[in-house]
Amino acid sequence: MITTIDLNYSNNIFPLLSENIIEAVKNNISEWKKVLLFLNRRWEAHSIVCKNCSYQVKCDFCDIWMTIHKYPKPLLICHHCNAEKNIPMECPKCSSTNLINIWTWVQKIEENLKKTFNDTIITRLDSDKIHKEWILIDEIRNSQIIIATESINTISIDNLGLVCFLLLELEFLIPEYNIEEQVYDNITYNMKRGSEIMIQTYIPDSNFIKLIQEWNFKDFVTQSMNERKEFNYPPYKELVYIWVRSKSKEKMKDMIIKLYNKLEINNISSNTIFYDKELFMKRNNEFHQKIVVKWDNLKEFLSCVKYEVFRNKEINLEWK
Ligand SMILES: [Zn+2]
Ligand SMILES: [Zn+2]
Repeated sequence: MITTIDLNYSNNIFPLLSENIIEAVKNNISEWKKVLLFLNRRWEAHSIVCKNCSYQVKCDFCDIWMTIHKYPKPLLICHHCNAEKNIPMECPKCSSTNLINIWTWVQKIEENLKKTFNDTIITRLDSDKIHKEWILIDEIRNSQIIIATESINTISIDNLGLVCFLLLELEFLIPEYNIEEQVYDNITYNMKRGSEIMIQTYIPDSNFIKLIQEWNFKDFVTQSMNERKEFNYPPYKELVYIWVRSKSKEKMKDMIIKLYNKLEINNISSNTIFYDKELFMKRNNEFHQKIVVKWDNLKEFLSCVKYEVFRNKEINLEWK
């Protein structure tokens, strides 16, 4: 069963913790069942939604939700292609000025849960911890409330009574073209576990939430395919992810410039290749930058670049 809670009209004990959620968590704990609370993996994500008409700002080029960056000046940025938009003062769709920034409360969730359930074992699992499975098994066994990201789905949780998406629209801020499909999958997976599902949202009238509520997979697929066709995503175009890695940030940037030049020489237009300059990662003392390429013919693309590893359309370019 799926229950959708409209945060615009619910009685909220703390931000993102409505009376309905608190009540449901209490009931499950008293029956010795576990509760899983989902929160997006990008805790720092900021975005804007219109409380009046459920509008969320999407990138015009990628059909991906845009996030707010405060520096050097406040802007909405697409983490897929780096496109920018000014932060609207009124909703572009309905002209309402009732726009809210949905970030501010996310970091306080754990703190506020501890205040409400002070004799309950609460565990927050981030993706780094999830990769160390041996730590997890004990921690999950002993916890009553687990706050986690969708990567928790790789681990089985016994006696799970309730799964809550504290703010469903936050899940969409991950810059991947198939993020709606991933969220749909995640909800289906947890329903199949036999848990009760609760979704909190400020945009209950959005198309996606309506389709979830009606459990209308056929319309969901039709709509997704139309969007993918319009924005040149698979299955209509090849999508290649290139990881550029180096121990030095400068060398990594240098290699990206060389890659761009190489593509330019081969008359490949710049609107087929995307990356977010701000979104590089540091792992094991090495810088990683993800680059997305939309392409008609993968073979043709590969003939333009020198690559070292090629598997499942992921290419690793390394610079020693
Ligand atoms: Zn609006
Ligand atoms: Zn974009």
